[in-house]
Order: sequence, then C-alpha cells, then structure tokens
Amino acid sequence: MVKNHNLTSAIMDATWGQLRRMTAYKAERRGGRVVLVEPRGTSQKCSGCGTAVPKGLDERTHWCLNCGLALDRDVNAARNISATGLGQARAEGQPLLVQRRRISKFVPVKQANAFRHW
Ligand SMILES: [Zn+2]
Repeated sequence: MVKNHNLTSAIMDATWGQLRRMTAYKAERRGGRVVLVEPRGTSQKCSGCGTAVPKGLDERTHWCLNCGLALDRDVNAARNISATGLGQARAEGQPLLVQRRRISKFVPVKQANAFRHW
C-alpha cells in the first residue's frame, strides 16, 4: 500500500472513477443507464425496516434487533443501495433500461476457428 495519504486518495479516486466509467459504458451498451448513489450509511441502515443499526467496521454481520433481519453486512448495504438507486430512478422519471440491445454472444477462439473451415 502507498504510504503517502494524498497519493493513496488520488489513486482510490481514479480507481472509482474508472469503475464508474466502465460500468456506465457497459450499461449504456445494453441500453441501460447507471444511477449513482450516496453510499454513506448504507451498511448502518437495516434494509428490512430502515432502522439505524450502528456497527463497527469489524462487524461483518448485520443483525437488526427491531425486525430480526440477519444478513452479511455487505448484502445489507447492497440492498440499501439498490433500493435507493431504484427510488432515485423513479423520482427522475426515466427508466433504468432505456432499450434492450442484443449483444453478440461470445464465441471462444477454438469454436470461432472451427467455423472458418465450413
Ligand atoms: Zn430491521
């Protein structure tokens, strides 16, 4: 890991930016779009009932005492991010999937070469 904190931040920002661009590219290629969601607090909020369940970074399991939901911490956060993103998309009034486009299927090189002899 890089010891220079400013450099580490710059690298992480560039990495997230690249992931965002690649994800948007893939979504647009399939006729969809990407909705960016503020991730803050998504692992602390219960995806079942919305109650705040504070936990440290070392706690890997989300366990809500209010509704009894027990999940992996990341799965809980993913559900919250998905719900927030879908809510934002609905509020914007634009569908997530604009037009489904067919992407040509991947043909392994061996198989592609086999077709050339026909
Ligand atoms: Zn809950």
